[in-house]
Amino acid sequence: MNKRRRVYEGKAKVLYEGPEPGTLIQHFKDDATAFNNKKHALIEGKGVLNNRISEYIFLKLGEIGVPTHFVRRLNMREQLIREVEIIPLEVVVRNVAAGSLATRLGIEEGKQLPRSLIEFYYKNDELGDPMVAEEHITAFAWATPPEIDEMMQLALRINDFLVGLFLGIGIRLIDFKIEFGRQWENEQMRIVLADEISPDCCRLWDAVTSDKLDKDRFRRDMGGVLEAYQEVARRLGVLTENPRPRGSGPVLVSSKPT
Ligand code: UDP
Repeated sequence: MNKRRRVYEGKAKVLYEGPEPGTLIQHFKDDATAFNNKKHALIEGKGVLNNRISEYIFLKLGEIGVPTHFVRRLNMREQLIREVEIIPLEVVVRNVAAGSLATRLGIEEGKQLPRSLIEFYYKNDELGDPMVAEEHITAFAWATPPEIDEMMQLALRINDFLVGLFLGIGIRLIDFKIEFGRQWENEQMRIVLADEISPDCCRLWDAVTSDKLDKDRFRRDMGGVLEAYQEVARRLGVLTENPRPRGSGPVLVSSKPT
């Protein structure tokens, strides 16, 4: 069916050539991978949910002035994006200890951190995405010092906004991973948010029960992966097929146990 030129295939997404120069089509697959590809499964419907959730979040971030690669959603699995040069770093923002931070530093999972932390990982599957310091980033010219500053400022703004957005729907944003790209317009370059923001790359815990509503359900064989992603989509108000009325937003969820 797809006669378009495939530009890149990743673990959970495919990029196709877009309709105009400087655009790409980002296609969300149902593949789930973890532990650097050692674990793999198909979770039917995950791609559709991530497309919707990521669209919603990128649009909201655009509304508060965060530059992103997102142009518009095309269909159930695809969105039109602006082509950018991806900076080869995964930027992780953490609010609560979990995952590799909890393991590496021996901090109890679930402990609120004294302040939000930003970490950088070098995007390289063969090396297992090692954590790197700013020293490495500048020495190997993955990004310049001003680019690092810009990514950190944007990451904190994105975090502040998303913490509030999720708390409003009864979810704690524990941590997340984002990626940035360079976008050129004439001779001007700007750093924009790229890739996706979805339960594949966030830790999302129910604010009342601490139930995991993210990819940890897959990593830790907990089951109910699709149901958890559906719950996030439902609370964000993006599950309905009908166009949502103007001004409708996230669905407020009671913070009291029922
Ligand atoms: N993350 C991601 N892709 C990666 C590594 C991490 O999306 O390749 C996300 C992960 O979902 C979590 C956050 O980044 O929300 C921090 O992950 P962590 O360093 O704790 O690693 P993990 O425990 O997932 O190996």
